[in-house]
Amino acid sequence: MDLRAVRGMNDILPEQVQRWHQLEADFRLHAELYGYAEVRTPLLEHTALFSRQMGETTDVVEKEMYSFERHGEQLTVRPEGTASAARAYVEHAIHAKEPITRWYYLGPMFRGERPAKGRYRQFYQAGCEVLGDAGPVCDAEMIDLVSSFLRRIGVPGVAIHVNSLGSAGTRARFRDELLKYFTPIRDRLSEDSQRRFERNPLRILDSKDPRDQEAAQGAPSILEMLDAEDAAHWKGFQHALDVLGLPYVVDPGLVRGLDYYTRTLFEVKAIGSDLGAQSTLLGGGRYDNMVESLGGPKVPAIGFAMGLERLLTVTPEPPARRGPGCYLAPIGAAAGDKALVLSRELRSFGVRVELDGRGARLKPMLRRADSLGSRFCIILGDAEIERGVITVKDLIGHAQEEIPLEGAARILADRVSEPAPESNHPRGNR
Ligand code: AMP
Repeated sequence: MDLRAVRGMNDILPEQVQRWHQLEADFRLHAELYGYAEVRTPLLEHTALFSRQMGETTDVVEKEMYSFERHGEQLTVRPEGTASAARAYVEHAIHAKEPITRWYYLGPMFRGERPAKGRYRQFYQAGCEVLGDAGPVCDAEMIDLVSSFLRRIGVPGVAIHVNSLGSAGTRARFRDELLKYFTPIRDRLSEDSQRRFERNPLRILDSKDPRDQEAAQGAPSILEMLDAEDAAHWKGFQHALDVLGLPYVVDPGLVRGLDYYTRTLFEVKAIGSDLGAQSTLLGGGRYDNMVESLGGPKVPAIGFAMGLERLLTVTPEPPARRGPGCYLAPIGAAAGDKALVLSRELRSFGVRVELDGRGARLKPMLRRADSLGSRFCIILGDAEIERGVITVKDLIGHAQEEIPLEGAARILADRVSEPAPESNHPRGNR
């Protein structure tokens, strides 16, 4: 049998899960600090949700979605969280319940991209969405949330790139200008860009293909084409960033891959990471027309999503997990029964316990207790049972004593909660 995990999809084993828990907990705490509440939407949505919102000519929709038909419905495993959140917002008429909605989400996304370091086919995103606030201060606060979160989790250096795409009218004028600029050099573009040329010339600016990148040198800048309202928003956004003391790079080449964006766009890149082309930790922007296009009222919105795998790559490894407080090593059947009961008692006092039920000899049990980094190893053999005691071996203080079995759980619980003596144990655990 040669069944392996699907290419680009990763198992996360228990030794790594601890870091995931920490990152997820940090994100939840941080999002809640800014007033966000969690929303959970299904992994499956109607394909049309993504193809219409993200855009028929985007890479994700054209090439990467996991789509299938079931029960006569065309479904897609979600490639992102924003469209689903907006769909849920409209479906539950949230606008009628509150003027401003702040939601966050966290979970796996699926895109059939070519796997590489930092680029997978199943990957995790954490994201935030604000619905109901059109103002530029909201955009700057979102950047503040992101940058303080990245600091908190220990990401060493980042660059915040910002741009404005303007409103729909501005975008349409920009599109015409781009067509004028690229038409004479159309045959120098990549095949994809030539094919999408008329439908979506903005995409050329976003392309990773070196031919497109070269052709785009000297392309017009959208920032010079903003109308008065777009320009006021753009100015207000930068002003609020300055008030917050957040450094940023104005990047007119930043268009991001999706059709739904309007006005503010941003991306945060890791500086000095070994992620190469995958150094973008997160991206986001305004999508002021999405709610209306989903059949809701005209509600402006902004959001971002960040990739958790990439965040883990650029944050420091935490210290290893502590071992159990007590490792129980019974020798013989009668001792096994006593150890079973004692384990349960210890756990009722909140002590983390591992019971060695292998029926092994003492030596391998002690070795296991030590390699787990346990604080105490409790030895129970016939001699102990006869005298109604247990042997408590302190694996960090390197001491050993006998205590009565009766009432042992309470005594051990107290000892486990005391600080461990100085130790040269490699993991420094209790
Ligand atoms: P996007 O939804 O494409 O704007 O991506 C937002 C963030 O999600 C990126 O900056 C990455 O951190 C992460 N991301 C997107 N696609 C992938 C992928 N295929 N594998 C891993 N992370 C990804």
